[in-house]
Amino acid sequence: MTNLDVTKQAKAGVRKEVLIELNEVSKHFQLGRRQSLKAVDQVSFHIYKGETFGLVGESGCGKTTVGRTILGIYPTTGGSVVYDGKDISHLRGREELKSFRKRAQMIFQDPYASLDPRMTVDDIISEGLDVHFPNMPAKDKHDRISTLLMRVGLNSEHGARFPHELSGGQRQRIGIARALAVEPEFIVCDEPISALDVSIQAQIVNLLNKLQNESELTYLFISHDLSMVKHISDRIGVMYLGSLVEVTTNNRLYAKPMHPYTQALISAIPIPDPDKKEEMGRIILEGEVPSPINVPPGCKFAGRCRYCFDRCKKEQPSLQQVEDEHYVACHLYDRPDSLPGIKRKIFKED
Ligand code: SF4
Repeated sequence: MTNLDVTKQAKAGVRKEVLIELNEVSKHFQLGRRQSLKAVDQVSFHIYKGETFGLVGESGCGKTTVGRTILGIYPTTGGSVVYDGKDISHLRGREELKSFRKRAQMIFQDPYASLDPRMTVDDIISEGLDVHFPNMPAKDKHDRISTLLMRVGLNSEHGARFPHELSGGQRQRIGIARALAVEPEFIVCDEPISALDVSIQAQIVNLLNKLQNESELTYLFISHDLSMVKHISDRIGVMYLGSLVEVTTNNRLYAKPMHPYTQALISAIPIPDPDKKEEMGRIILEGEVPSPINVPPGCKFAGRCRYCFDRCKKEQPSLQQVEDEHYVACHLYDRPDSLPGIKRKIFKED
């Protein structure tokens, strides 16, 4: 099913409403005159209003570039980004970008690096208010900041502090308050918990869930860790070397991963029960990820895939629907006879 089909169904009331559609979006970075780095290569997916779409993959697979491309921080090299029915791939001019940025914000990975150490928390949060609500009276601004601090689990006393006077978890709460200040409807959460202690990670995930319920927010939650996105995502996309290789619902992805790369990622999630761990086994990926500057022809995963066959080395598989709400880019699913071979005992079969 194409994004167009999804939009038609949403409009017909059959499905939830689509907020964002990426249609074959590419982002290539030019390196000198002859080389380019294909950070994102013809990626298509959609995000429903009010859902959390998890985007996972190893470091350098292009997931952060996808987030930044949606927000217009990076212009697209090809394809289109449609936001609430409007193509925003080529937003030009300060006013157009400014009005979009009021609707779509970002929470960054490193809460310390993303906060100016010379500014107080009050000043950090009021920056966005000054841009988007320049005529807001000082008292209203003060009240808004106090409310925001309380919403993220802090209090107005934190407003006078500097980032270095706060813990990592508190700094990330400030990053969240700053994003919420302009009342956005969509937030790109770029590895928002990976720099935090494990004990704090769950608190931030719970906070993001609470804020989503309160304000009907839509999230793109980017992470390198499949066990993290499990707790927050409604649907999940798995990226490998600039391409999406699998998209499905949270439940389906963990119960029945279909792409060989996703299977390997899921098999690496730690399991506390030693008996179950033994039963599930682990898929060790061999070989190196190819360079995004010199991508080999065919399937990008071919050099590491234990099911690779002739066609994989010649033809790049496209993302296709293989089951309800389940999209996979792998030639195996064009050959039903080969399917039993990739179902391991750890995954439930229908
Ligand atoms: Fe493996 Fe071929 Fe599928 Fe690529 S297309 S993941 S190489 S089986």
